[in-house]
Amino acid sequence: MNRKFQAIVVGAGPAGASAALGMARAGLDVALVERGNFPGEKSMFGGLLHRMTSLEELFPDFWLRAPLERHIAKKGTTFMTAESSFHVQNETTNFSRTPYNGYTCFRPRFDRWLAQEAQKAGATLITRALVEDVIIRGGKVSGIKILREGGILEAPVVIAADGVLSFTALKAGLRRPKFNVGQMAVGVKALIDLPKEVIDDRFGLSGDQGFANEYVGCTGGVRGGGFLYTNYDTVSVGLVLHLGSLRESGKTPYDLMNSFLEQPQLAKLLKGGRLLEYSAHVIPEGGYDMIPELVGDGILVAGDAAAFCNATGVNLEGINLATHSGSLAAKTVIAAHGEKDFSKKGLSRYKALLNDSYVMKDLKAFRHAPHMLHIDRIYQEYPELICSMMEHIYRIDGTPKSSISKLLLRELKEKVGLKNALSDIFTAWRAL
Ligand SMILES: Cc1cc2nc3c(=O)[nH]c(=O)nc-3n(C[C@H](O)[C@H](O)[C@H](O)COP(=O)(O)OP(=O)(O)OC[C@H]3O[C@@H](n4cnc5c(N)ncnc54)[C@H](O)[C@@H]3O)c2cc1C
Repeated sequence: MNRKFQAIVVGAGPAGASAALGMARAGLDVALVERGNFPGEKSMFGGLLHRMTSLEELFPDFWLRAPLERHIAKKGTTFMTAESSFHVQNETTNFSRTPYNGYTCFRPRFDRWLAQEAQKAGATLITRALVEDVIIRGGKVSGIKILREGGILEAPVVIAADGVLSFTALKAGLRRPKFNVGQMAVGVKALIDLPKEVIDDRFGLSGDQGFANEYVGCTGGVRGGGFLYTNYDTVSVGLVLHLGSLRESGKTPYDLMNSFLEQPQLAKLLKGGRLLEYSAHVIPEGGYDMIPELVGDGILVAGDAAAFCNATGVNLEGINLATHSGSLAAKTVIAAHGEKDFSKKGLSRYKALLNDSYVMKDLKAFRHAPHMLHIDRIYQEYPELICSMMEHIYRIDGTPKSSISKLLLRELKEKVGLKNALSDIFTAWRAL
């Protein structure tokens, strides 16, 4: 295979498929190159699909067409210890098809569907094609080599959308060979089979309503948290674990996941369920400070490959940033074809578009969130403090009560220390 295109996109995940779709709609001859047997085959996420304005621009009926599971009507957070838990939740009946709270979905279905839309628009999807090198001529990226005999594809511009470990960005010299483990997390997920009626009863849902919950204090002191999302007739449950902290702890994701699933609060929700699948993937959690060089001569970087993931501790956003950056990369390439300028300077329009979008604005606004998430006390002492405080507040046992302010002060002194608490409040204030 030796072919010339007007643009090549490496990786048919949400970033790559959005980029290919945008360019194909504008009439460009685009190759969308994917290592899997089909787009989404090797992909996993939690997974909540957050609002995606860039795809709504391309399909005004996006939320009716995309393969989705349930819309999130209840969103909560549970602080837990081995013996107790405290849960806060927001529930809304004010739901229109516009998903401010998100939808659950499966990546193999979603990614495949989006790539098919790109194909329908005219993009050439090439699967089972592992990109093994980038062709550089006269200092400019001018194509890729795929792991097939004579597998050379040429184009004046390549979009690297091959995920967090982007080989394409590395080969083009846009990112460093070594990652900082302090900026990476690993996500592990189990998919549990349960009948729809059981899910509806257990979580208080009806129709296509869904529940999304985050857990704090369930990681044995390792930085990270748990999640549980309801799909139509399955439940996705898992942990996101900070890699540096995991390494220091000497624990394995598998053991932590097993103890999470065995916690009584979780076990009763999943009772009778059958494990269908177990998966894991790396997450770029370093935020704004992790972003690599985004533009080179003949190349742009989008999605996780550009570290466009916003992990604030409250939400984990990745797919929306991936699709948005992919669409902006497409707009840049369309303009570059008009001007016949694929130089780094010409393609720098991409950075301006990103800076003007919520992608960069949000990453900048939450730039300090990773520092806050490095406070180890969040994962053990604070959940203990919250659970113990709430237990005291709710307890009526015929003995004199402390006022809530005195109780808080005592718990803070005992569990965290006042100096630490003040420093943590300051860090959180800056981060959020
Ligand atoms: C456990 C977990 C939970 C998450 N939860 C959420 C969530 O609830 N909501 C949310 O919005 N985000 C979530 N994310 C983040 C989200 O999954 C990512 O931000 C998103 O997938 C990034 O999309 P992408 O297209 O940039 O990269 P990817 O989805 O990684 O896609 C990259 C594609 O490139 C292909 N590829 C890679 N290398 C090559 C190569 N050399 N040659 C050819 N093809 C290649 C891959 O096969 C893949 O199809 C979660 C992530 C994890 C791991």
